Amino acid sequence: MTAGFVERLVVGSGAWVVTAPYRQPRSIDALAPWGDFHLKRQGALWTACGVPANDWHVFWTHTFKPEIPEACLECWVVVKPAVSQGIGHE
Ligand SMILES: [Zn+2]
Repeated sequence: MTAGFVERLVVGSGAWVVTAPYRQPRSIDALAPWGDFHLKRQGALWTACGVPANDWHVFWTHTFKPEIPEACLECWVVVKPAVSQGIGHE
């Protein structure tokens, strides 16, 4: 799957946000993803790497760091050219 193909799948607009199918059960105040997490644009139905994510949790304040093992590197390859630094907020 090429990056160009993936970009055609990604709809929505605005900032990239961290998304994942599960969130850590113990984190109520500081929500954090559980397991692998991806990136999508606000309102998008698919992640940057082309996975359906319309019912996934969105972690508005979570920072995407590609060096974290659970971070989806396929998403990062797509998003990286659009951002010069990390995504999200510290
Ligand atoms: Zn991904």
